This record gives sequence, C-alpha cells and structure tokens, in this order.
Amino acid sequence: TEPFLSVRDLRVRFATEDGLVKAVDGLSFDLPRGRTLGIVGESGSGKSVTNLAVLGLHDPRVTTVTGDILLDGRELTHAPRRALERLRGNTMSMIFQDSLTALSPYYTVGRQIAEPYRKHTGASRARARRRAVEMLGRVGIPRPERRVDDYPHHFSGGMRQRAMIALALVCDPELLIADEPTTALDVTVQAQILDLLADLQRERGTAIVFVTHDLGVVAGVCDEVLVMYAGRCVERGTVRDILKSPRHPYTWGLLGSLPRMTDDADEPLRPIPGTPPSLLTPPPGCPFHPRCPYRDQVPDDRCRVERPPLAPEGGGRASACHLPDERVRELTPGAVR
Ligand code: SF4
Ligand code: MG
Repeated sequence: TEPFLSVRDLRVRFATEDGLVKAVDGLSFDLPRGRTLGIVGESGSGKSVTNLAVLGLHDPRVTTVTGDILLDGRELTHAPRRALERLRGNTMSMIFQDSLTALSPYYTVGRQIAEPYRKHTGASRARARRRAVEMLGRVGIPRPERRVDDYPHHFSGGMRQRAMIALALVCDPELLIADEPTTALDVTVQAQILDLLADLQRERGTAIVFVTHDLGVVAGVCDEVLVMYAGRCVERGTVRDILKSPRHPYTWGLLGSLPRMTDDADEPLRPIPGTPPSLLTPPPGCPFHPRCPYRDQVPDDRCRVERPPLAPEGGGRASACHLPDERVRELTPGAVR
C-alpha cells in the first residue's frame, strides 16, 4: 500500500551568522494511514525541524529545504504557501509543546476551536460551537459548556494544552503531527490524551507522527520508531525491535535514562553523558562518537573517521553503527531487556 506520508532524503539547512547549520541531513521515512511513527531523540536532534518542514512552517528566508515530502502522493516540498495553509488544520494538523503560540489571546477558546470547523465543514455557528464543547469535553476539560466562552488566559497551562489539542483534532485531520504533546501534562491527563489519539486513529485512520524525547512514551503509542541524532536517523524499526532489541548505542543511552527495573534502590538514573554535537561543525566519522563508550571497540579508529551508513537489516529495520552484530549482542545492556 502507498504510504500516506513519504519523506525522501530530506535536508533542512539554516543560514546563521556563523555558517550553515545542517539541522536535518538526509532523512527518509514512510507513514501509512492508520499508523503512528515515533520520532525520538534529544532536543537538537532535528525532530521538530523535520516536522516544521513537513508542515511548511519553516522560515523560508533563512531555511533551505530539499528532498521530497509527499502527502497522499502530492509533493509538498515546493508547494505554494497558500496550498500549505489550506492543508494545515484540515488534512494535516499539529500539536506543539507550547500552547501559548497556538492559541490567540484575543478570542475565546471556543471560538478558536469552532471557527476552523465551520470553515472546513460549512457547519452553522451553533453547530460549530456544540462541536467545540464536545471537543473540550473529549480532551478532559471539566464543564466544557461553561469553559467554552473563556479566553485562553482564564485557563491553566495544562488546560490550554488540552484546548490546543482539541483545536488540532476538531477537523479530524488525516495526518497529525504531535510534538511532545503531553510533556506538560500530568500522568492522568496524559493517558487520557493518548487514548483520545488512539480513538481518533481507529475511527478515522489518522496517520500520526509522534515526536518525543521519551522512549517510555512510544511503547503504548507507536507502531514504528525512528531514532534521530544530529539530524540523521541512527536507528529505526518496529516499536518492538527498538524497545526489545535496540542496536545502536545511542538508543541504549535513551533507554538507559529510563528508571531501572532493579531492586537496587541506589541504581542511578543514567542520562547520556555529554551533549549533542554542534550541527554547525559536526564531528567527523560517527556523529555519536564523542559520547559513545564503545568507539574504541571498533578497529582502525573507524568511529572517528568513517561515518557509518544506515544499513537495512530487513523488516524495515536499520541502524547506523560500525559495531559488528556479535559485539552488539554481547554489549546490549541489561537495562534494555
Ligand atoms: Fe559508537 Fe562507533 Fe557505533 Fe558510533 S559507530 S555508535 S561511535 S560504536
Ligand atoms: Mg523540539
């Protein structure tokens, strides 16, 4: 079956005073309808930039986007801004981390949710308002019929986040890009929102890109996972592959920062030591080598010299690391089982 969203060799570059930043450097993925792709990585790995490019929300004055972005067979990479504007909010929709930039302070929450629905469906004002109340209820706003006429500043941060999610979902998008959608929410509301996304997907066959730094979240939500580092995919596979038998040391690091399931109360949390590299002057060889504890286990200094290609391993699985398979099997950390 044809993928609904297909991204081919995407490259996103920013011109800065100090030079060219390669924020995304040759990324490809496919997403069929009704499926969820998790894009995982630390901040600065290129996850959000990828999605802004898909949505056409990058600033064209300083950004160069090359490669192909196909939505339902339609090329978006060079689509006119008008065409992208029409698609956004209807066919494709997004939830960002920061609800303040998505909601206008000048209109009531209900109006901001009802208005795109009215435009999209031709519904009457009264019906669109009922739809706004319904959506606010679905994202867990208590007494939505009373809150619908509030302004965003009457809402708490968590409620604004939920209102923004209601806004993103009101037109039943076919592609939803959710960038850390639940990070700011407490666990109960987080679960409620994830259930809502699952319902939407079941009912509508929505394709979802779910961006997160937290591999723990992807388990319940995603079908496939793409792990990004320094603007590239370093590992991808089914959610099972990535969680049960991750292959790339960076993925091990991401999993190691989860609380350990051991009896040892003193077992520390293990964030990945070091910081992601500068995308202005990325390191030679494997971009993860400055932080990788295994770089000296690969002969001939290859990790510092030669960039490992993203090697397919069948079943849609791939990873980019010089370590040989048998070493990987020996090394796969206990925390990861
Ligand atoms: Fe580590 Fe080398 Fe693999 Fe990069 S290629 S992740 S430095 S072992
Ligand atoms: Mg981000």
